[in-house]
This record gives sequence, C-alpha cells and structure tokens, in this order.
Amino acid sequence: MAIILDGKSLAKKIRQQLKSEVNQFVEKGLRNPSLAVILVGNDPASEVYVKNKRKACEEVGINSLYIHLSEDTPEEELLRIIDKLNKDEDVDGILVQLPLPKHIDTQKVITSISPEKDVDGFHPENVGKLSTGMKDGIIPCTPLGIWILLKEYGIETFKKDVVIVGASNIVGKPMGLLFLRNEEATVTICHKNTKDLRKYTEEADILVVAVGKPNLITADMVKRDVVVVDVGINRLEDGRLVGDTDFENIKEKAFAITPVPGGVGPMTVASLLINTVSVYRQKFGYPKHPLTDV
Ligand code: NAP
Repeated sequence: MAIILDGKSLAKKIRQQLKSEVNQFVEKGLRNPSLAVILVGNDPASEVYVKNKRKACEEVGINSLYIHLSEDTPEEELLRIIDKLNKDEDVDGILVQLPLPKHIDTQKVITSISPEKDVDGFHPENVGKLSTGMKDGIIPCTPLGIWILLKEYGIETFKKDVVIVGASNIVGKPMGLLFLRNEEATVTICHKNTKDLRKYTEEADILVVAVGKPNLITADMVKRDVVVVDVGINRLEDGRLVGDTDFENIKEKAFAITPVPGGVGPMTVASLLINTVSVYRQKFGYPKHPLTDV
C-alpha cells in the first residue's frame, strides 16, 4: 500500500509557519503582506477557488483585496485596473483568476501584470526565468506545491524518469521545467496528441497527471513503486471529486500517491501564499522565501 502524500496536512503546517513569519514582520513595524485577487464573471468553480484562496490569505495575515468584475467587463477596463495595482506600493501580489471570459485575451492580461507581482508565475518573464534556470523568478503555484510536497516526503527526484501527462502553461510545462532544473531529472511531457500514452507512463519513476479526465491513468499503465502525482480535479455526476488516476487500484502498486481531494490542491493554495510572502519579503529587503528556493 502506497504512502499517501498528504498535501492537506502539509499545507496546514505551511500556513501556520507563514502566519508566524508574517507576525514577526508586523511586530517589527512592517505592514501586512497584501494580495489583489481579480475575478471576472461568475463561474461557480472559480468563485470557490477564489474563496479558498482569500480564506487562506486571511489565516496567515495576508490582506486580500478582492475585485469582482462583471462577466461583460471590457478588456481595457481590466487592463486599467491591473495597471493601477501594478503601481500601488501597498499591493505585493496580483492574481487574475482563470479562465477569463472569451472576449478577453488571457495572454495579454497575464503579460500586463508586473512580473514582480505575478504571484501565479505565468508572466512570460517568469516563465523565461524558470526555463533558463534563473532563480529570481516566480515559480507557478501548482508545480511549486508539488515540488515542496515531494521533498517533504523525501521523494528522490535526481536522475529519475519523470513523465508528465498534460502540457498546459499552468501545470504541465512549468512542472517539466522545474524537474529539468540543474539537470535534475529526465522529463517527458505527453499531451492529447501523444501517440501511445501508455508507452511513456509505464516507464515513469514519477508520474504527474494534469489533464482533467477521470480514470485516464489506470493501474495497468504504471510500473510498481511509481510515485504518482494527480493534479486533476473532476466532479462526477454523483457529486464526488476525483482526480485523473484510478487512485484505489494504483495505491496498491505505487510507492506513493497524492489523493484527490487533499493532495495537490491545498499545496497549490499554500504556494500562492508562499509566493506572496516571498514578494513581500523582497520588497522590504529580505531574501526570497526559502521554500521558493528550488
Ligand atoms: P488544461 O489547460 O486543459 O490542460 C490539459 C492538458 O492535458 C493539455 O495539455 C491537453 O493537451 C492534455 N490532454 C487532453 N487530453 C489528453 C489525453 N487524453 N492524454 C494526454 N493529455 C491530454 O488543464 P490544466 O489547467 O493544466 O488542468 C488540468 C487538470 O488539473 C484539470 O482537472 C484542473 O482542474 C486541474 N488543476 C488542478 C490544480 C490543483 O491545484 N489541484 C491546479 C490547476 C489545475 P492539449 O494541450 O494538446 O489539448
């Protein structure tokens, strides 16, 4: 039976640690860190994500400035708001909840956020820093959270064969880049046009799945003692929340596996807090947060 990589507990521990760090800064006379969260429209899943992120901010002492805009907000209006937040000295981080309504150019919006305040790590400058190995960029939250979770459990990544299923800009690609840093692991990224997915998943020492399809990866597609990181979040018709892998059967074969819920999700939110505190620290002349030192 596999080790269950308990992201929920670790995220809680990280929040407690951040809370006491923030307290220490405030006791020194600094203001609290702050994160601006922008939601455009009323997508129910996005509303839940935003609520969770703001609740987590509150718990550790990060002020969250919530800007909820209507679905039909013009792109120029959103860009104007971001510009104002970029210039606001009291705002450390800016997060625009994705997906955005169709009439808004997502990449344009991401690029309009100041790279220093881009706590999601999606700005091309931060992506470029991640891909060239520069350590002063901001790492996207889900890959950072996964990395911290693997390290907490002592999962060896050096010289491992890592297979990532899903090639999104948010998860798959930056996850691959993180494993490639310092020539740490050998990385294969699969996507919907991959000819024979099983051929790759069967070889993986570490398998990260980020697609959004329940049961995409079954126990017969992985080797014994694999480490499985399931990023997927899927709501079934009966209301259950599941990932992209057959957790019940794979856990009998794997060395370690993340549950859904309670695995990657809470670590993603924890990483958002880490990135925000890290930006705040640097603004006041302190080194970046040690947990971002990947
Ligand atoms: P996305 O942008 O839709 O990307 C999905 C990726 O999977 C794309 O690269 C897509 O390929 C690929 N894909 C589609 N069908 C495939 C198949 N049959 N085999 C292999 N690859 C396939 O999604 P995302 O934002 O990365 O999110 C993926 C999942 O993770 C979703 O369920 C999302 O809700 C979840 N998620 C969870 C967290 C968390 O914190 N737990 C964070 C972010 C996302 P193409 O690019 O070629 O279409």
